[in-house]
Amino acid sequence: DSFFATVPLAPPDVIFNLTASYKADTFAKKVNLGVGAYRDDQGRPWVLPVVQEAKRRLLSDPNLDHEYQPIAGIPTLLAGAAKLILGADSVALQENRVTGAQTISGTGANYLGASFLARFYRPGAQVLISRPTWANHRNIFVGAGFEVQEYAYVNPSTLTLDLDGMLASLNSAPEGSIVILHACAHNPTGVDPTEAEWARIADVMRAKRHFPFFDCAYQGFATGDVDQDAWAVRFFVQRGFELFVAQSFAKNFGLYGERCGVLTVVAHNATLAKQVRSQLEKLSRSSISNPPAFGARIVSMVLSDPKLYAEWLDNLRTMSSRIREMRECLRDELVRLGTPGTWDHIVHQIGMFSFTGLTTPQVKVLRDSYHIYMTDNGRMSMAGLNSGNVAYVARAIDEAVR
Ligand code: PMP
Repeated sequence: DSFFATVPLAPPDVIFNLTASYKADTFAKKVNLGVGAYRDDQGRPWVLPVVQEAKRRLLSDPNLDHEYQPIAGIPTLLAGAAKLILGADSVALQENRVTGAQTISGTGANYLGASFLARFYRPGAQVLISRPTWANHRNIFVGAGFEVQEYAYVNPSTLTLDLDGMLASLNSAPEGSIVILHACAHNPTGVDPTEAEWARIADVMRAKRHFPFFDCAYQGFATGDVDQDAWAVRFFVQRGFELFVAQSFAKNFGLYGERCGVLTVVAHNATLAKQVRSQLEKLSRSSISNPPAFGARIVSMVLSDPKLYAEWLDNLRTMSSRIREMRECLRDELVRLGTPGTWDHIVHQIGMFSFTGLTTPQVKVLRDSYHIYMTDNGRMSMAGLNSGNVAYVARAIDEAVR
């Protein structure tokens, strides 16, 4: 007899399971609109030219070693990441009250932030996540021991922001709740608040003394402009909030497997920042000891070299504009086919995903009859579309919704 016999079988991860089904499918015209990973117009993974160049420089350095990195990560990466999200002219940076730690990509940054808050935030505080949100938010914060509640986010009939619902949820939550906010390119809906809407959200957050925890997995990937995509975080800093930002470099550097991320922290003063940093290091030491070097070296090099940085911005525009073109193509095809329903939300939504409004049964028809794979909630990864498959996908949607 084994004590393992009492271990219940956990369900497989939905997204990774979808990729496995797609890979096992032998149909020639199969389409993967599941996983949020960028593909070029030939449907292939894209290694950013700036990343190729950084790798070439790294590998030609005769002094490159494979030593441990500091517990909090590579200092130039932390500095570059903070400047990227907060802006070079950030008052918080000038006042030396920003700190952080390198993490296992964006997931690790969420995890480290959650672990820190579980130990040091007010006991019994609730965590609020958007309805819907990235599925891992719930896993991570429940795993850290929090009670997780949802705030209203999207109006299911118009597929636009339900601002009144969101403000009402934030207002009725207990004072001092932790609120997970998507900095830009909300996953899965592609719906972001406008600047005026962010201001109203900040007002309620301030009045209720909620703690903002920004998740930023798509900076520069959403609009193609890293400053535009950082607007909400910078606005909250200007408004005087202390906050966390979980930064992922998976999408905006195409470094999915290298697991490079940073938890950036803005505190009221330098002493507080130092206290927080010491505890982040302690948490990292017992979980990962010290973070992986390779991806971090690439990101750090690109963020600190003006020529590589300019090239990176160009690579970001290549990715974001291809995705925007695909949004237009898909919308235009559906309109041309006279597909029942309205499809403008596909071009109004932003970032990697479109929340199409397709129902679970329609998604199933797409998968079973057309070999088109997407999550049951109707979320479509726009990066899986290309000029070779967009007409096929539009025709399939047209037939599935009729
Ligand atoms: N947050 C959100 C909202 C995401 O969409 C993702 C990527 N799917 C992440 C965090 C983190 O991803 P990673 O750990 O690969 O950086």
